[in-house]
Amino acid sequence: MTKIRLTEADRFERRHNGSREIRTKKMLDRIGVENIEQLIDETIPAAIRLKNPLDLPAAQTEHGFLKSFKAIAEKNKVYRSYIGLGYHNSITPGVIQRNILENPGWYTAYTPYQAEIAQGRLEALINFQTMVTDLTGMELANASLLDEGTAAAEAMSMLFASRKGKQKKTATKFFVDQHVLPQTLSILKTRSNPIGIELVVDDVAKYDAKDETFFGILLQYPNQEGNINDYPAVAKAAKENGQFVAVAVDLLAMTLLTPPGEWGADVVVGTSQRFGVPLGFGGPHAAFFATKDAFKRQIPGRIIGVSQDRDGNKAYRMALQTREQHIKRERATSNICTAQVLLAVIAGMYGVYHGPEGIKTIATNIHGHTQLLEQAVKAFGYQQLNENYFDTLKVAASPTEISQIREAAEAKGINFRYTTDSVGVALNQTTEMEDLLEVIEIFAAAKNADANAFDLQAAAEALEMQWPAHLQRSSEYMTHPVFHDYRSEHEMLRYMKRLENKDISLVHSMISLGSCTMKLNATAEMAPITWPELATIHPFAPASQTAGYFEIFRNLEAWLNEITGFAGTSLQPNSGAQGEFAGLMVIKAYHEDRGEGHRNICIIPTSAHGTNPASAALAGMKIVLVACDEAGNIDVADLREKAEAHKDDLSSLMITYPSTHGVYEESIIEICNIIHENGGQVYMDGANMNAQVGLTSPANIGADVCHLNLHKTFAIPHGGGGPGIGPICVAAHLVPFLPGNPLVAEAGGEKAITAISSAPWGSAGVLAISYAYIAMMGAEGLTNATKLAILNANYIQARLKDHYPVLYVGANGRNAHELIVDCRQFKPLGIEVEDIAKRLMDYGFHAPTVSFPVAGTLMIEPTESESLEELDRFCEALIGIRAEVKEVEDGIADKENNVLKNAPHTQAMVAADQWELPYSREKAGFPLDYVKAAKIWPSVRRIDNAFGDRNLMCSCIPVSDYAEEVEA
Ligand SMILES: *Cc1c(COP(=O)(O)O)cnc(C)c1O
Repeated sequence: MTKIRLTEADRFERRHNGSREIRTKKMLDRIGVENIEQLIDETIPAAIRLKNPLDLPAAQTEHGFLKSFKAIAEKNKVYRSYIGLGYHNSITPGVIQRNILENPGWYTAYTPYQAEIAQGRLEALINFQTMVTDLTGMELANASLLDEGTAAAEAMSMLFASRKGKQKKTATKFFVDQHVLPQTLSILKTRSNPIGIELVVDDVAKYDAKDETFFGILLQYPNQEGNINDYPAVAKAAKENGQFVAVAVDLLAMTLLTPPGEWGADVVVGTSQRFGVPLGFGGPHAAFFATKDAFKRQIPGRIIGVSQDRDGNKAYRMALQTREQHIKRERATSNICTAQVLLAVIAGMYGVYHGPEGIKTIATNIHGHTQLLEQAVKAFGYQQLNENYFDTLKVAASPTEISQIREAAEAKGINFRYTTDSVGVALNQTTEMEDLLEVIEIFAAAKNADANAFDLQAAAEALEMQWPAHLQRSSEYMTHPVFHDYRSEHEMLRYMKRLENKDISLVHSMISLGSCTMKLNATAEMAPITWPELATIHPFAPASQTAGYFEIFRNLEAWLNEITGFAGTSLQPNSGAQGEFAGLMVIKAYHEDRGEGHRNICIIPTSAHGTNPASAALAGMKIVLVACDEAGNIDVADLREKAEAHKDDLSSLMITYPSTHGVYEESIIEICNIIHENGGQVYMDGANMNAQVGLTSPANIGADVCHLNLHKTFAIPHGGGGPGIGPICVAAHLVPFLPGNPLVAEAGGEKAITAISSAPWGSAGVLAISYAYIAMMGAEGLTNATKLAILNANYIQARLKDHYPVLYVGANGRNAHELIVDCRQFKPLGIEVEDIAKRLMDYGFHAPTVSFPVAGTLMIEPTESESLEELDRFCEALIGIRAEVKEVEDGIADKENNVLKNAPHTQAMVAADQWELPYSREKAGFPLDYVKAAKIWPSVRRIDNAFGDRNLMCSCIPVSDYAEEVEA
């Protein structure tokens, strides 16, 4: 009889890790090692290897995980939250939820650096920019920031850096309306102090525009209580006295309110969350930053602009890239890198689907409901304190009434905002007449009034706008056809699909972006993020309703502590760069706490990612650079000399490990010791954590704090440039300083620094993805992933090294999880690394990282998720391209007119009746057989970046007007 054995049928690890068993053998042979252990031993220095396996719960199957995770999520209570404070429930149109938010064609795309294969998301982002520009009444907007609070801080720093003449010396104060959102204020405190800005928080009535010690003012419109103040007059006074005006607005209210752009504002910020993006317990949501043309070179983050391709066709690309922190480094005034692209795309699509009339209708309904509620509560004898409001009432109430209201509301599953003497009610798009009736009943009961005595129907028929005329918007917005053409679901579906089909994402081929770790974003990891138990929770809902989230945080923090070897984790930073800043601020607080607040020197290797020096500058530190030697390693002698020279005021070292050059530096332990001996702390940039998990750890190498890019190592998709999460993990002595939140006592350490992000746990709504990844991989799966990431990278090295020089390898000739191939030797032939990147598109691939950390090179990171077959296709593409370079070398191909210089080739070109290029159409469009089986065409030819920067346009314009605009 055949025996039956019960085994696990479907281990997730097998789905995540691309190459297993027999294939691994082939790869090991090619590399020239017996087994994977030998490869790892030859790659990672023995001194830093972990002695014990990670202590994590047993790996779950996909099915098992989803079942148990649902039970955790269900511990959250989904209430109707009318709390406001910058977060409002809204409705994600189904067609957008399914085809963007839940669609890997959108969420697995990379930041659109390779514009020719990113026209879809670039168009979606320019829609977002146009919508924001129009609604705020400004001249241009960027393609998102991380949250409203950090956007306000970016406005403050940009304006501070824009002071002119004698202002530079005298004007160091920034006036902040005392009614800005509390979380925004907390972030402003964090961000102002290190760079020498003094915040003055007070009643706007006390603001004296003539006071030359101020450089500007921040207003909140409507303010955090919901009141609409008459700010145009304040702004006028400020502008007349040469001061800057920043305004945080509610984007939806801009459909009805006169936007700040029409009353002189220099910067307008806010969140686009209520444009169809779920609450997610605080994020991720796309913040926006709109400003005047005069500031176009100072805007933080990425801006999408219009340019043209080689045939003069309209094409989009990221504009003004020369402003990025990579170039400015320690002179940067912002460290923003990853933003909130996927959420900006969703908000923009919400605008496309509803159009200006649609969103105005939504806003009008909300405002109408709010008016009805005001009339009702007044009829019951309450006083309503907001003179003018959009969607939020502040109802005065006695302590007894408040507790009665609260009890009744919670019994009905409703949250209001409670203070000691008032109840705040902020209505939203999901509020329907029956919800309104329930709210009315609750207020009536606390006054022993009869809710039915208020004639809702009659009141609804007699509604009128009450605001003073000059606050009522009369100007048009969103007039571009894109906001008018896609009203039926069919049209909308096809529009989104058309855009999606222009872009290369992980659904097509591997994206080997060195340092960015584009691994599998598994469907089972993504599924929970739209569950209402996670998606529909307000960040300031009472803790009694969020037990599920707390359990997720507790477990995930414990797992990340175990993986990094540290004692505590803060999930608050919502990008890697924010993690860097948070980590440095925690180090600063630690030094201050020990009476060593003068320590402000930060040592950074020259090879560091641009966000490192930018973050150190934002933390008010002085940067000392340390050189790298020829092998790409930190020059230890130089480091020692500098650490000793600055030992009295050394704050920290920022270091990436394995190095940005893709090598495990042997000297890392010595480096950390040198810093500690001289009184400094070691900050490890965790972008390369994929080369450490289970094999070594930041604590093990001697660091004190690190950030993790959950959107790299821990499977959160890149989203086309965000969302990201950048938690920091710290050693025990730094735990007390982890960042807090002004409204949520549970967040942060005992001596918490002020907020880094608006929400207490940052982008909590997508933490489920990393949670799922760890839960389903388990200790062994995660460790295998690291080994396979190293195997895959070394396999690529083995396949490519006869074709391209590989820069920087370790002592045994191995690289870590990524490798740098040199293309600089082709320069004399007129072939740039960019030509190779563009030619890869013809082969169906997105380029690896171009020119970081070394100009003229490609940094390839395959990750563990790619199969041998995919790695081979990619290597064959690069080898094919090398042969094309050789044709130029050998004089067979023309130096100017060749497949590389003309890349990428579009379908229109290859199918045109005319073909005059000196090579075949097949060679242009189908350079290898596998391409024929599944071709993805770039939708435009090579884009002219310089042209676009000279003729900067950051809003969508109809094709018909484009030629005119260019000529003008
Ligand atoms: C990605 C990356 C960062 C920045 O992370 P963001 O999430 O984009 O802010 C910092 N350092 C390195 C080495 C990186 O690769």
